[in-house]
Amino acid sequence: MSAASYPGQPLVEVRGLSTCFGSEGTGLTGLFKPEVPALRAVDDVDLVVMPGQIVGLVGESGSGKTTLGRTILGLEKPAGGDVRFAGRSLVGLGSGELRLLRRRMQMIPQDSAASLSPRMNVSQLLGEVYDIRRTPKDKRRSAAELLSMVELGSEHANKYPHELSGGQAKRVSIARALAMEPDFIVADEPTSGLDVSAVAAIINLLMRLRSQLRISYLFITHDLDAVAYMADVIAVMYLGKIVEAGPAEQLAEAPRHPYTQSLMNAVSRPGEERRPWLAIRGDIPSPRFPPSGCRFHTRCPFAQPLCREQEPKQEESGPGHRTACHFWREIASGSHLIQ
Ligand code: SF4
Repeated sequence: MSAASYPGQPLVEVRGLSTCFGSEGTGLTGLFKPEVPALRAVDDVDLVVMPGQIVGLVGESGSGKTTLGRTILGLEKPAGGDVRFAGRSLVGLGSGELRLLRRRMQMIPQDSAASLSPRMNVSQLLGEVYDIRRTPKDKRRSAAELLSMVELGSEHANKYPHELSGGQAKRVSIARALAMEPDFIVADEPTSGLDVSAVAAIINLLMRLRSQLRISYLFITHDLDAVAYMADVIAVMYLGKIVEAGPAEQLAEAPRHPYTQSLMNAVSRPGEERRPWLAIRGDIPSPRFPPSGCRFHTRCPFAQPLCREQEPKQEESGPGHRTACHFWREIASGSHLIQ
């Protein structure tokens, strides 16, 4: 389903969002250590999620994906910008109002097994969500109902986390997120650490829940096959910035940004030859010391002197498609110069 298939108002709208983590070496420590700049993990990000839409968020570790997801949910304090949920700004809301809206926005944590208390059985873990949110007994879904929603039998209710497989622990995490009947879920690497068959089963479960309950997801992942299969829109993050975003099919088949191109080389296309896009070199730099100009210039095979000096702005590079690269037209048409 393309982005154009989602008319109406955004469910989640992020504008100019930034998240910083404190500078080291300030205060008393700063007398003895040179000051280190704050880490800008998310830097001036715009993102829109429409009702029922799956937005895939991809990029290497250290690109700021999880911090962006946590900031949208109010789990990290933004340093600037705005997050609107169902038309209401979350920034500056009182704690009571924020708590009510937060019920409709849930997270599936990356490490499901570690996020489940080893001292509670599954039934207690599901009830805990309602206890934390002080949900009246008559408004609670039963453990059996929640387990059935994630395709687990009621016999799992008495099991403890160490008795669950990786896929089953992930399903319990999903059931905990579903308990509050959310409209929006940040799914943080929901398939990481699972074997191939469990990955397929979790993806199909999330897709079915989206269709049945019209849940929107921000799907944070390294799994490019999964994101190409299930996302409606893909956003690509590099060192705190969204460098390209657009309809999933376009991004997978005709990426404009060299970073997206290198990532999309990894998408498997049965029966097709590998895409000819150039691989990137080196490791991602420290987000505490991002390169000048285009942050990708230290690894980009197409970098020109301008790239070191001037940060590229996002430009419309197709219908619903935006790219932050000075030379995306030349790169897309093959008339670029490789240095
Ligand atoms: Fe590469 Fe320059 Fe484009 Fe950045 S702006 S991605 S360095 S060509």
